[in-house]
Parts: sequence; C-alpha cells; structure tokens
Amino acid sequence: EKAIAVMTSGGDAPGMNSNVRSIVRSAIFKGCQAYVVMEGYEGLVRGGPEYIKQVTWEDVRGWSTEGGTNIGTARCMAFKKREGRLLGAQHLIEAGVDALIVCGGDGSLTGADLFRSEWPSLIKELLETKRISEQQYTRYQHLNICGTVGSIDNDMSTTDATIGAYSALDRICKAIDYVEATAYSHSRAFVVEVMGRNCGWLALLAGIATSADYIFIPEKPASSEEWQDHMCNIVAKHRSKGKRTTIVIVAEGAISADLTPITPKDVHKVLVDKLGLDTRITILGHVQRGGTAVAYDRVLATLQGVEAVNAVLDSTPETPSPLIAINENKIVRKPLMDSVALTKSVADAIQAKDFDKAMSLRDTEFVE
Ligand code: ADP
Repeated sequence: EKAIAVMTSGGDAPGMNSNVRSIVRSAIFKGCQAYVVMEGYEGLVRGGPEYIKQVTWEDVRGWSTEGGTNIGTARCMAFKKREGRLLGAQHLIEAGVDALIVCGGDGSLTGADLFRSEWPSLIKELLETKRISEQQYTRYQHLNICGTVGSIDNDMSTTDATIGAYSALDRICKAIDYVEATAYSHSRAFVVEVMGRNCGWLALLAGIATSADYIFIPEKPASSEEWQDHMCNIVAKHRSKGKRTTIVIVAEGAISADLTPITPKDVHKVLVDKLGLDTRITILGHVQRGGTAVAYDRVLATLQGVEAVNAVLDSTPETPSPLIAINENKIVRKPLMDSVALTKSVADAIQAKDFDKAMSLRDTEFVE
C-alpha cells in the first residue's frame, strides 16, 4: 500500500481543485493512502502534520466546483536551495509518503524533477546526519514523482492544453463581450491587455473567439514602422463598413520587431492620434485566473488525476518521471524532464528574441 501526496504550486489555475480531488479519490480507490501538501513547496520545507496531511474521500467533496486551489499554493524560495529540498525530503519520509504528484507550471515541475534527481544524495545526507534511520533509508530509496500541468497560459510544451487555460480564455471572452456592449453604445475602441509573457495563446484564441480587430502576441512581433499603419488600416476598413466597435487585444509580452514592448498605452495613443477614436484601456489582470473552472478544465483535470495515480503505481526507479499531457484528445504520459526542458528552451528563445527558433521548437514533436 502506497502513500501518495499531491500539491499545487506556482500560480493558481482554475481546475487545480478538480485535479487534487481526482488524485485523492483515485489513490483511495486504488487502495492507497492519500495525502495533500499544503502551500506548495513551502509545506514540504515546513513539514509536519499541519502541512503534510492525510485526507479522506470526503475531504475533497465538491471541490470540482471551486476555483483556485483549496490546498494553497506558494512561491517558495527555500526550495530552490539544496537545504530546503533536504528538509522537504526529510519531511516526506517522516510523513511516510512514497510518491508526490505536483500540479503546477514549468517552474514547479522543474523543481519536482530536480528533487527526484537529487533524491539519492539527499537521503544519503539525511542518513549520515542521523535525520532518518537506516530502516527509513532503505524503505524510501526512490522518490516517485509525477507532474500535472496547471497554468492559465497554456505554455507547456508537449501538451495541447494545460489545466486552467480554457477557463481563463472563457473569462477573457466574457470580459470582452462586456466591454463590447459599451464599445457599441458609444462607438468606442477598447484596448484589452491579457496575460501571457512568453505565450500568446490566450490573446490569439480570445482574438478569434471575440472577432477582435487586431491582436499583439509575443511570438509574432509587429514591425515598428508598419504595425501602426497596418492596425489603423484594418480598423478604419472595419469602421468604414459600419462597425461601431473596435477591440484590440495585447498580450502582456507583446513586442515590436525592434524588440521594444508594445503596451496598451502605445496602442491607445495610435488609435487616438491616427484615427481619432474614443479609446479606453482595460487591463484584465487576475480576473482571468479567478472564478470556477469551465467544464473542459474540470474534465481534463479529473482524467489527468486518474492517469497521474496510474502512472505513479506503474513507476519503477528506472522509468523517467512522467508528465500527464493531453495530445489529440488522449490523456498520455510524457517524460517530465524533456517537456520541461523543451518549454524552457521556447521561453529562452522568446526572451532572446529568436522567434524562428521559438516557433520551430514549439512545433517539435518528440518521440518517447
Ligand atoms: P510556475 O510553476 O507557475 O511556473 P514558479 O516558476 O514561480 O511557478 O515556481 C513555483 C515554485 O516552484 C517556486 O516558488 C519554487 O519553490 C519552485 N521552483 C521553481 N523553479 C525551481 C528550480 N529551478 N529548482 C527548485 N525549485 C523550483
């Protein structure tokens, strides 16, 4: 009988609660003990029954209908240091946990992978410093790790959708529908900023879903001389055909080809100066992460929770840590380390403004 723990880490995302509920119940259903780690890696570093808690079937009742994450999430600096991870290992062993499922973004999953790869040296040090017994050392030789991806940005390579992305998209679309009413009434333009530093998925899909006039995303920088005229020509054309509204969506990480950021203020200025439009800026901010999950995320999180527990039960010390993905509507396992490495190289290429490389990396299919 295994003891399987789940934690949520990094930025919260709608659907994380469904994922935790599914993992807890699948673990119990399979005859295992279920644990939750409170407050992300902070809970591992602090340890004790307050932070690493055994939970029952009933403890997660109704969680699918709740937004955010009920077991808390945190950014934990201590876990980025070896001493923090050493404490984490000690506390997991003290709690009797064999396997850890982490629901989070690429940062959290990088931490999870590092924790597993370091595990042999961590437990050796714990034994040598007498923080664990010989018996515990032998019993907890291998840390079983599995990742599920919770992120509203849909920015993880190798999975088609991350838990929370469709909920955020839905919220953005609703918010744009709301401002659209005012835009229509007053014949106004709205510049809407959405989240997405390295990934324009939310801006792109929201643009399609709301039939926005123009979008700016990090992956496709607009030429600094041309974007202003290009955008204005399109907006003017729409207006000349009788359209009373103008919606321009700007991703947080949008930049121009000369590598300067394009901000909602820049776009606002152009719409006012060149077209004389009555223009307002709406920054959606954390509203995008709030509220309950849409049905798709609840289902995705639930199916992936079941698969995460199956993966943990199938795992051997030789199998690489899995990440639970969805590809072409099938829930599949991918090597966690490769997925995280690929995601990081895409983000690095975008930060280095090498967009061709970023796009070709994003298209990379890797075969297990
Ligand atoms: P996300 O998981 O949403 O990408 P972060 O990047 O903030 O969010 O990561 C969440 C937490 O995961 C961090 O606060 C830290 O505790 C842990 N973490 C992130 N990167 C690492 C790393 N390289 N090594 C160890 N822990 C990490």
